[in-house]
Amino acid sequence: MQNLDKIVALSKNRGFIYPGSEIYGGLANTWDFGPLGVELKNNIKREWWKFFVRENRNSIGMDGGILMNPMVWKASGHVDTFQDPLMDCKDCKHRSRVDKLIEESGTWKDTKKRPEELSLPEMEKFVFDNKIKCPACGKVNWTGIRFFKLMFSTDRGVTEANLNTIYLRPETAQSQFVNFQNLQRSSRLKVPFGVGQIGKAFRNEITPGNFIFRTVEFEQMEYQLFCKEEESMKWYDIYKKKAHEFYTKRLGITDRNIRFADHDNLAHYAKAAVDAEYLFPFGWGEIGGTHHRGIFDLGNHQRDSKKTMEYKEEGQDPFVPTVIESSHGLDRILLATLVDAYNEEEVAPGDTRVLMKLKPSIAPYTVAVLPLQKRGLTDKSHELFDTLSKNFSVSYDETGSIGKRYRRQDEIGTPLCLTVDYETLEDNSVTIRDRDTMKQERIRISDLIDFINRNIV
Ligand SMILES: [Zn+2]
Repeated sequence: MQNLDKIVALSKNRGFIYPGSEIYGGLANTWDFGPLGVELKNNIKREWWKFFVRENRNSIGMDGGILMNPMVWKASGHVDTFQDPLMDCKDCKHRSRVDKLIEESGTWKDTKKRPEELSLPEMEKFVFDNKIKCPACGKVNWTGIRFFKLMFSTDRGVTEANLNTIYLRPETAQSQFVNFQNLQRSSRLKVPFGVGQIGKAFRNEITPGNFIFRTVEFEQMEYQLFCKEEESMKWYDIYKKKAHEFYTKRLGITDRNIRFADHDNLAHYAKAAVDAEYLFPFGWGEIGGTHHRGIFDLGNHQRDSKKTMEYKEEGQDPFVPTVIESSHGLDRILLATLVDAYNEEEVAPGDTRVLMKLKPSIAPYTVAVLPLQKRGLTDKSHELFDTLSKNFSVSYDETGSIGKRYRRQDEIGTPLCLTVDYETLEDNSVTIRDRDTMKQERIRISDLIDFINRNIV
């Protein structure tokens, strides 16, 4: 966990991620993204959008609302089943998720079922029979078990009598499903086709967060492919492979730190499901998944809305398409890129630098413009910043020794540093320094844009 603590500290000090509402003591499991965090996040989103939406002839995108008719969540099953089993400690009021409580006690290993597979009465009996202790105070004094809804709800309506409970969406996917006919008709795409969406989702989690791994407000990148049932397993395999390619090739995450874990218990409607996991400092954690959702969602919306979800094509019987979902947690993936990139490197005996070895194409800043001295070089440096910032994300730093400034850029993952010196005024060239090799070379300003483009793939 040492590395995670270092990343939490670096994130705050350098401006990737701050604790939410910090001056008021925070708000559990909420975080704000700072200047570097928002750049990194936007870069990951851009890569995802390119890879899943733009680079495929049969793909389109959409951006649905966070608030939807509550009927959506009734049809999707969330209103009835999306909840956590909880018990409270009567002594210290600590609240525990019961399946986690059983799992962390270690005692479940004797039983045949995993904790989350136990029924509610079985879970309760297990905690009482095995005298599982409160993790906060160590006493054994539990309330009965009860369900806690994971969906955030809020009230809508002007007068008390008109109050309607509406929900903040717990996943983005339902927008693609309820708009299936709009999406198909307006794009005129034929099955198989897919729809990508990036957006916020909310879950009323009570379990501890591990930094931004588990948060109550988070961003999802979800792609739903609509296909024929008989071709669905082919597409499932294709999208499982695509997820791997996205993490390793597009984001540069180390292959050996990623694994794919097939689900043991499938939802009754699903033929297959697999989690993509990353090896975080606290263990393997889910960052995404490929899910065979069958016709569950479209079928339920057809039943409840009484609107057809059938796809029609000349010469074929109408049918409700099967859905293959490729789902990705943006915040978790962002954390994985930080953990994966973090390095401490001894550059000379007793001299260690922190190096954030982010893939250059997703680094918050692509280049840093560093005037060697303030005196006489500011105008030229500003001019360089103005030119480059039209094409790239550029950091400008003129305070402190040049060595310290290089180290600051290493720590935030900037691939290239440009130093403007007095020679620059004579010959329009700058020194360019590579983050990873620390090698420096002299380059003409007129060649810069090409050089940077070649070096940030
Ligand atoms: Zn307690």
